[in-house]
Amino acid sequence: MKIFCVGRNYINHAKELGNAIPDEPVIFMKPKNALLPPNSPFYYPEFSNELHYEVELVLRISKNGRYIPEKQARKYFNAISVGIDFTARDIQDELKKKGLPWEKAKAWDNSAVIGKWIDLTPENLKNPFRFSLKNNNEVVQNGISSDMLFPFEKIVSHISNYFSLNIGDYVFTGTPAGVGECVVGDVLQGFLENEKMFEIEVK
Ligand code: ZN
Repeated sequence: MKIFCVGRNYINHAKELGNAIPDEPVIFMKPKNALLPPNSPFYYPEFSNELHYEVELVLRISKNGRYIPEKQARKYFNAISVGIDFTARDIQDELKKKGLPWEKAKAWDNSAVIGKWIDLTPENLKNPFRFSLKNNNEVVQNGISSDMLFPFEKIVSHISNYFSLNIGDYVFTGTPAGVGECVVGDVLQGFLENEKMFEIEVK
């Protein structure tokens, strides 16, 4: 299983971190051990002093493929969820300054949280997906899939030009504006429309 992530896929988020607007999807990966197992506690990483949440829509890959044309891409994912791409922002800032890879900031154990899955149907694909994150019951991030710079099909197609996609892989599709810091004791809840998809406490 592989976890793909898209960076800077919402213009307002790229701007809030002072990043340029990309002209093709920014792709990075997290290893299998980055996935927080269901019902496991989430611990604040000891190497960071600035842990950020990034709420994102997540796709589940349902078909193996490579070099998938954008027009065919819809056939390669069959479920959607909401997750958090946890980021050690202090580490990432240091690495970015030096032009180094991001893994230590993004790909550590349990840095990927994924909620429950909703099957994608022609019905729920008619409208864009609205999603949000609450921290201690206050909405801190709000997103809508129609604001994505690169839509689902473009992301899946683009990834497949470089990596095989396999059944069970996950794709984090980028975070909207409003990323912020969380501390021990915070309770984070992710929503798809009004449905709660996950709840975790930072321990
Ligand atoms: Zn992200």
